Amino acid sequence: MARSRAPQDAVVVEEVMCAFCGGRGIDPFGIMSSLSRCCVCGGSGKVLVQVPHIPCAHCRATGAIKTLTCTVCAGKGVVPRPALPLVPCPICLGTGDDATAPAMGCLRCRGKGRVTGPQLPSGLEVAAVQRLRAGADGGPRAARRARRQE
Ligand SMILES: [Zn+2]
Ligand SMILES: [Zn+2]
Ligand SMILES: [Zn+2]
Repeated sequence: MARSRAPQDAVVVEEVMCAFCGGRGIDPFGIMSSLSRCCVCGGSGKVLVQVPHIPCAHCRATGAIKTLTCTVCAGKGVVPRPALPLVPCPICLGTGDDATAPAMGCLRCRGKGRVTGPQLPSGLEVAAVQRLRAGADGGPRAARRARRQE
């Protein structure tokens, strides 16, 4: 039996509804004709996208900028998720738009509105991590031992 084993670094994709045409497979703006096929999904109403993915910030997950396909997600409405942790893009403040040319995607986050944040957690997260570490370092066990000795 032939076993198809995917390599570890294989790109995982899944089928989602085409955002540009809303899954109808028809050009939503009827530029050629109201029955012309959606140029994003080719008329199938579905598109393959990389997993994990996030909604496209640039087109607000609609797949369209005015009547054009979104240049960031190519009309799919979702974009491959950047590496975690995600923070709002400091340049476009999460809108995914280029301030000087709103029809274009932000250059910093490439229109995703999210960028990979600093690896070092800040403020509250540091405190939470320290609490977890204290617990993992025999904290509760030490406490139990102390109780047994009483
Ligand atoms: Zn479509
Ligand atoms: Zn988009
Ligand atoms: Zn940005």
